[in-house]
Amino acid sequence: MHRTIAYALGSVAVGVVVLGLKYLAYWLTGSVALYSDALESIINIVAAGAAVVALRVSAMPADDNHPFGHSKAEYFSSVLEGVLIVIAALAILREAWLSLSHLKAISAPVEGLAINALATLINGLWSWVLIRQGRKLRSLALVADGKHLFTDVITSGGVFLGVVLVGLTGWLILDPLIAALVALNILWSGWGLVRESVGGLMDESLPAEELDRIREVIFKHAEGAYQAHDLRTRLAGRKTFIEFHLVVAGQMPVDEAHEICDRLESALHEAVDDCVVTIHVEPEDKAKIADVYVPYEGP
Ligand code: ZN
Ligand code: ZN
Repeated sequence: MHRTIAYALGSVAVGVVVLGLKYLAYWLTGSVALYSDALESIINIVAAGAAVVALRVSAMPADDNHPFGHSKAEYFSSVLEGVLIVIAALAILREAWLSLSHLKAISAPVEGLAINALATLINGLWSWVLIRQGRKLRSLALVADGKHLFTDVITSGGVFLGVVLVGLTGWLILDPLIAALVALNILWSGWGLVRESVGGLMDESLPAEELDRIREVIFKHAEGAYQAHDLRTRLAGRKTFIEFHLVVAGQMPVDEAHEICDRLESALHEAVDDCVVTIHVEPEDKAKIADVYVPYEGP
């Protein structure tokens, strides 16, 4: 089993433990804010489970049926996660709204908070492990999972402080208000996930600064060619697809043009992780407004 998948499975296990603890904290106290915190861990479990499946599928090599590979599989888990996040946020908002009309005191706050704090500590440690190992294994999915978990840790910290405040001040209304804030924060992160996956499914271009970097690499390594135009890029999960037309002298021998292409391909592979490069070679009468003009070096 691949190590990234092992960590993703670890996330499922950690999520189950944390959910159990957080639900216990809610059950003891009846706090809506703690309820919202617990619901958020359900998302983490399902998201981690979906990530396991997505990582397995996207790691499969290209085959006859899927000649461009399977890396788009990751978008399915992100869309699923986004939808779940929206459902969880709505559930929290409903609970907060219902409890507004009959505010009740929080029971056993100290025990509840202690259990909630323990769960948050576990989440914090695991997010640290995920980010560290994700960077080591160069897995964006693990790093993203770790960062997501870390934002949960911060939300949980806010919930914790809020419930402490309710206990100290007796302002019961704070409890549903904090829950609503958590819900809005969850909605925001869900929106980001869905937006990103839709962008990937719609073959959105790379961001402008990445494109600049690619043009720069072509500029530096296209010596012998005249220009590059019709640069098109798209992402498929971790994979980046880059294609463009390369204009060379019409009389240039094929092996010379091919050498330029090979040089460009390996330079782009250096610069962009996990990329697929396609170059279409053309004679000079096909030149047009270019993405990259190669400086003429003289004979
Ligand atoms: Zn062209
Ligand atoms: Zn070749």
